[in-house]
Amino acid sequence: MHNYDRKNLYIDGKWVSPTGAGVIDVIDPATEQVIGSVPSSAPEDVDAAVAAARRAFDPLVTVAERRDRLAKIIEAMEKALPDITETIGREMGAPLRIAQTAHTQLALTAARGILSTLDNYQFEERVGNSLLVREPYGVVGAITPWNYPLYQVVVKVLPAIAAGCTVVLKPANEAPLSLFELVDAIHEAGLPPGVLNLVSGPGAVIGEQIAGHPEVDLVSFTGSTTVGARVAAIAAQTVKKVTLELGGKSANVILDDADLTAAVKVGVGNCFLNGGQTCVAWTRMLVPRSRYDDALELIRGTVTRYSVGDPFDPATRIGPVASERQMETVRGFIDRAERDGARLIAGGADKIGDVGFYVAPTVFADVDPDSELGQEEVFGPVLAVIPYEDEQDALRIANGTRYGLSGAVWSGDVDRATTFARRVQTGQLDINGGRHNPLAPFGGYKQSGVGRELGRAGLEEYLQLKSLQLPE
Ligand code: NAD
Repeated sequence: MHNYDRKNLYIDGKWVSPTGAGVIDVIDPATEQVIGSVPSSAPEDVDAAVAAARRAFDPLVTVAERRDRLAKIIEAMEKALPDITETIGREMGAPLRIAQTAHTQLALTAARGILSTLDNYQFEERVGNSLLVREPYGVVGAITPWNYPLYQVVVKVLPAIAAGCTVVLKPANEAPLSLFELVDAIHEAGLPPGVLNLVSGPGAVIGEQIAGHPEVDLVSFTGSTTVGARVAAIAAQTVKKVTLELGGKSANVILDDADLTAAVKVGVGNCFLNGGQTCVAWTRMLVPRSRYDDALELIRGTVTRYSVGDPFDPATRIGPVASERQMETVRGFIDRAERDGARLIAGGADKIGDVGFYVAPTVFADVDPDSELGQEEVFGPVLAVIPYEDEQDALRIANGTRYGLSGAVWSGDVDRATTFARRVQTGQLDINGGRHNPLAPFGGYKQSGVGRELGRAGLEEYLQLKSLQLPE
């Protein structure tokens, strides 16, 4: 039984009434109906959450205790997963199959990976006459987006707690209900009070207060590049550490000897996953001129298989865009791309149906790499196909945006693809469809971010180093 009528915040191990009187409505993007609400916190609520996190922070907390905390969270996740899956489907319109896999199972896999990283991590080492000690950073402010509500929280909160930190979490207003369900389950599992606190509210007020709070030691932000830059600027005033996971415009580079059918099929699927609302989506497909017509034909055939509709219909592959605002943003990009001279080969800007924020999977060919569609993140189901002349040209285009989050290279020769991949300025890259690895670090080059999530590097973001010089 879901509780979508949320009146309380989670502070110091209890569900408490907020000081702020406002509420934030949560809208189902498939029906356009309000399905619930969460509190709009006041600054005093953030102060209380940060104070609780500070009281709960013990820099000497044992690794065994941290492990116990993580195990409790994972157990809570496992129990709550069916409810959370359904809620994600409702609050942001993820098709059930995607909610089960790319949202919740992926989050659980990531959580287990973080536990295994903790189990294998050496917190201390000797360098000459020094003992290097890695200590938890302190109070972490975690600010997360709506596109993968559970996953984005897991990859921050679990490494932070594994490192021995305590956390104040502020999820996105569009999709907060799944996190309230997660915290319900964590509460039942019995995490020590103050280790995890949940506040909801407008980013420009509550998010900024967390970023600027003198008692927050580290801010971990995932969201848009514009807001990330603002968070970093605010955090700088109290000289705190900031990690940023931001936007992307990743290139799927198909080299001339690639298996074109596989590269197109996987590439289109990657771009349209979660309705294109995926920071790592390969939204630019770079195709050699010599194979361009064949690729366009394959793309047209593949796109027809992406049925758009009710997230709870098992046949649906693309649900609605998560919010009306996001739908209008996506439609604006499509309109402008047509005006910029790109050739529409599938979909278009028209809203589908009378109810729900639906946009058709859309593909543009002949996209100018320097146009808005070639440069800017849409965050919707829009693929830009760009022809290139030779490998040098492909590399120039792949590296020719301000982003560097993800990408792919396809070639009949893995060594050739790997050589190419080494020259792409991006945090991660899949070669010939290499699968996701939850132990591999993830993060951005250039304006896609600062810092890493997952793996050892993801844990180390929440640790600081102390050097103890021992007598010889
Ligand atoms: P957003 O930047 O609008 O919001 C992200 C979070 O920041 C939300 O919780 C929001 O309430 C809060 N926020 C808003 N204004 C704030 C402010 N002034 N100060 C502090 N916090 C503030 O992003 P979004 O629309 O929720 O998510 C979409 C964006 O996130 C896309 O650009 C996408 O690429 C990016 N993203 C990146 C990753 C990654 O790992 N690199 C993952 C998912 C999403």
